[in-house]
Amino acid sequence: AHGTSHKYVSQKTAEYLGKKPEELKMVTLHLGNGSSITAVDKGRCVDTSMGLTPLAGPLMGTRCGSIDPAIVPLLLDNELVKDEKTGEMRHMNGTELNNIMNKKSGVYAVSGGYSDFRDLQARAEAGDEKCALALDMFGYQCKQIMAGYIAILGGVDCIVFTAGMGENDSRIRERIATDMEYLGVEFDIDANKNFTRGVPCEIPKAGSRTKVLVIPTDEEFMIAKDTQALVK
Ligand code: AMP
Repeated sequence: AHGTSHKYVSQKTAEYLGKKPEELKMVTLHLGNGSSITAVDKGRCVDTSMGLTPLAGPLMGTRCGSIDPAIVPLLLDNELVKDEKTGEMRHMNGTELNNIMNKKSGVYAVSGGYSDFRDLQARAEAGDEKCALALDMFGYQCKQIMAGYIAILGGVDCIVFTAGMGENDSRIRERIATDMEYLGVEFDIDANKNFTRGVPCEIPKAGSRTKVLVIPTDEEFMIAKDTQALVK
């Protein structure tokens, strides 16, 4: 579902660094209402956190992300819902559970009803422990996936943040990219807070083997470019 975005930012990253995509290994993180993380080796996606559907990966705004598969039969066997037509309690069906996993889970469920990360940040700062837990879980899971991809790629030249939180939320970037020196990522917390928004940008850190970039995504442009190539 985020393929066009990962393709766009990985190409844009190469352009920004004055390299060919074939010269780079990177992890791209599209962090928005839906979130996905991709390992890109020489311009080719070699792994991505979404699966058959966009439900897999880190927990998201309202999607549960990757969970223990046994939760599915557990809920189908044990959770009851009220039937809209008869008003009676009954077991939920697969469609209803799928709806819950896509629209009522993730940080929305953990926080008690907030899927917008601006709300989560503001409430966590004001002492809301559930919102703080949702942010902790999101940062933890994104970092876990990113670090796994860096290991799979044998180190990377850059990690790239994009989309709603990736581009705008310095605290989310900080959670994910700090304490990663052992994988070559040195992260400048101050530079992360103060840089130009809305344009491709590096969060500079002298001596870091791995660059950290923020690249605004442009899925519409990528779709237009792919369409043009196809038509030609
Ligand atoms: P997207 O799906 O890419 O449009 O991203 C939407 C998500 O980005 C929402 O959860 C927003 O709360 C979040 N977002 C947008 N701007 C900010 C910001 N300045 N700080 C924190 N989160 C933001």
